[in-house]
Amino acid sequence: MLWLPLPNQINERWQQDFPPVIVRLFEEYLRRWEELRRARKREALWLILLTLTGALALFVPWLPGHLWGSIGGFGLALAVFYRYRRVSSQVYHSFVNLNVLHHHLLGKLEVGFCNHVGPCECADEFRHHVWRKYHISLYGDPPGMG
Ligand SMILES: [Zn+2]
Repeated sequence: MLWLPLPNQINERWQQDFPPVIVRLFEEYLRRWEELRRARKREALWLILLTLTGALALFVPWLPGHLWGSIGGFGLALAVFYRYRRVSSQVYHSFVNLNVLHHHLLGKLEVGFCNHVGPCECADEFRHHVWRKYHISLYGDPPGMG
């Protein structure tokens, strides 16, 4: 599992320091990040359940006189498996969404971050702030699938 930081609410000062478009974009990014974090938690939980019910389904048939128990155990494991697959695909979609947003954000940091004509430090300040406050790196590629 990849460790993901828990984003805090963006404070007032932060909103004044950077262009509103960027702040809105980053807020959306944090929402997606949180969404992915929750989905990964669910995925891990269902994986544990799958392991348990799978072990049960393998074990019960070896007990004498447990035909219905075997069928029930197998059915349960199968149901958990389908559920796990669904949660897992949610993780994948959240991950793809976050990646798209990440690249969008990186693009904004490259071009059109602020209205200054000459070279300035605004985008770098933003990167630095995001890293310090959220431990999210906007210096390169988005975090991997873990
Ligand atoms: Zn600037």
